[in-house]
Amino acid sequence: MIDTTTALELVLLHGSTGSKTKEIELKDALDHVLAEDLISNIDMPPFRQSAMDGYALHSNNSNRYTLVGEVQAGTSANPNLKAGEAVRIFTGAPVPDAANVVVMQEKVEIVGDSILVADSLLPNMNIRPKGEQITVGAVALDKGTTIKGVHIGFLASLGVTIITVIEKPSIAIVVTGNELVNPGRALSYGEIYESNGAMLTAVLKELGYNRTTVIAVKDDYDKTKETLQETIGNHDVVIATGGVSVGDYDFVGKALQAIGVQQVFYSVRQKPGKPLFFGKKEQTAIFGLPGNPAAALSCFYVYVYPLLKKYEGAHQVNLSSIILPLLNDYKVIGDRAQFLKARMQGVGVEILGGQSSAMVRAFGDANALVFLPEHTSEVKKGENVKTILLPNK
Ligand code: AMP
Ligand code: MG
Repeated sequence: MIDTTTALELVLLHGSTGSKTKEIELKDALDHVLAEDLISNIDMPPFRQSAMDGYALHSNNSNRYTLVGEVQAGTSANPNLKAGEAVRIFTGAPVPDAANVVVMQEKVEIVGDSILVADSLLPNMNIRPKGEQITVGAVALDKGTTIKGVHIGFLASLGVTIITVIEKPSIAIVVTGNELVNPGRALSYGEIYESNGAMLTAVLKELGYNRTTVIAVKDDYDKTKETLQETIGNHDVVIATGGVSVGDYDFVGKALQAIGVQQVFYSVRQKPGKPLFFGKKEQTAIFGLPGNPAAALSCFYVYVYPLLKKYEGAHQVNLSSIILPLLNDYKVIGDRAQFLKARMQGVGVEILGGQSSAMVRAFGDANALVFLPEHTSEVKKGENVKTILLPNK
């Protein structure tokens, strides 16, 4: 059995980066990772731009200027102002080459066909220089950037329409258990509804992974072997849930071994998810997560998410974590490291009730996992704890 730090290191060591890139339209690029540096084809702003509604002056160091016209946003006009002349100008409009100052309109009084300026004039004030944000040929966003809404806005402002990204992994979720039935019909005695498939599909979708499929398999050694073999052959990442523990009908570990999956580790000194399996076959990464939904989700965030980010070549693969003071006391049962569903609020973090691996409800309130190292027996209100931030919460 290994510790949690080693387990995560091994996941990242063995996780590979996808080699397939694809071109996609910017509007579809949310949550994709740039496969190459993206170079700007334009200066932004593309021309000297007024930052204010006001007046553009050709300064002669006086406070009186003759008004000779108007420059609106979007115009191609570039009036040739002589010293002592001014034009009305609006935010976003091109500042005439001959102007060297923009004065905000609140500082100006109109007197006949002139303006009186009540402001000290500094060269180029209220003028955004051409290329202030980025110049043509410069790197706009670098390889490994995960595209968020703000990046789409920035790239759109540079006129980008197509970008090259790493193709997302295709992910199979293999759910195991004789007791599982799909929602849509009444339960017979002994049955429960299958929910890991729906949950992981949806969480993956929240994180930008849409190439997912759910495959259900009964607790049958041969069927488990067959299903896993086929699935591993056809996907970049396989996430099995359930059947990974030591019960007589837990066949995932044995089946993976029989089909030649290289085991990287199989059990971690942690709660939840002691019998966590991670292995590889050729380029496919395989996880065996616990069957209990809350445990499966914790292990997904802590171990599968970083692997997916590495697959995409993202700059940041690990979940962010911070140290926060606890808002409540908590007693630990056992001596394994703990990942506890928690809620950050204000400047502290609360360990939530309902930590049972079978209870997924508390996860709905969680925006973080509190990590307690091995052999922690209890933690007290006010104590600093490592708080792992869940993505998109
Ligand atoms: P296992 O790891 O197979 O021993 O399963 C542990 C617990 O999780 C059992 O109570 C299972 O019924 C439950 N479980 C396993 N897989 C799922 C699933 N896909 N959806 C809901 N519960 C599950
Ligand atoms: Mg089972």
